[in-house]
Amino acid sequence: MNLERALLRRVGEAIGRYRMIREGDRVAVALSGGKDSLTLLEALLRLQRRAPVQFSVSAFTIEQGKFLRSLDALSHWLQERGVRWLCLEDRPSLKLMELQPGHGCDLCSRYRRRAVYEAARSLQANVIALGHTADDLCEALLRNALFNGRIAALPPVTWSSRREFRLIRPLIFVSEHMTQLFVERIGAPVTPCACSLRTGGVRQQIRQLLAELERRYPHLKRKLVSAMGHLDTARLLDPRFLEGEPKETEAPHTAELPVLASRAGN
Ligand code: SF4
Repeated sequence: MNLERALLRRVGEAIGRYRMIREGDRVAVALSGGKDSLTLLEALLRLQRRAPVQFSVSAFTIEQGKFLRSLDALSHWLQERGVRWLCLEDRPSLKLMELQPGHGCDLCSRYRRRAVYEAARSLQANVIALGHTADDLCEALLRNALFNGRIAALPPVTWSSRREFRLIRPLIFVSEHMTQLFVERIGAPVTPCACSLRTGGVRQQIRQLLAELERRYPHLKRKLVSAMGHLDTARLLDPRFLEGEPKETEAPHTAELPVLASRAGN
């Protein structure tokens, strides 16, 4: 199937099914410099021309001191496309890199979240589009189930704490294999981040496990994403969803279950 058509169909399906983009929205794409967010931006620009609702698209990048190359090529590429782009140099993150170069993802994401809202505010956006893919959903599901004792992945649509921004993930039905092919096709300047070279963490191990399984069982990740939309709650153990139990009953904490929850970092 034609790559562009397949990609836009999947992005359009996610946007439509979860009402991600609405009339008059001002969407700011969080551009990490990687293949996924570049694909997301390009897909939204192409869908914008044919969508039944009017919306604007801008983009921003948070500079946290982790890029392995200059952002000049990205800046030039966005200029050529007429995309309004803000590159926000996050001073607290740069300071953090200086003082604690080995800091973990928790700290980094907390700093980035604050900067993301600041950038979106500067662009006067009401929607922030994030480039998480079907692969990210599968990894999050396994990580949460295996290490956090709960069945959860990533929300397709959610809100910032004071409901200032709607956060959307239009690539939830798109695989990273597809984003890789697409950025190659359009010649988008992927700017690698030092963290992409990391190995050995839980996230990377789950990624490898899924890749290995997918080699043996094609479409496995697609089926996993599909499973997230078809819960059979009667065959799970949460009393809130079992017949005859009061709705407000709390789920038992992992520690109360007769299984020891594993502990792991990222
Ligand atoms: S992988 Fe790197 S950039 Fe991403 S949250 Fe972790 S430390 Fe930050």
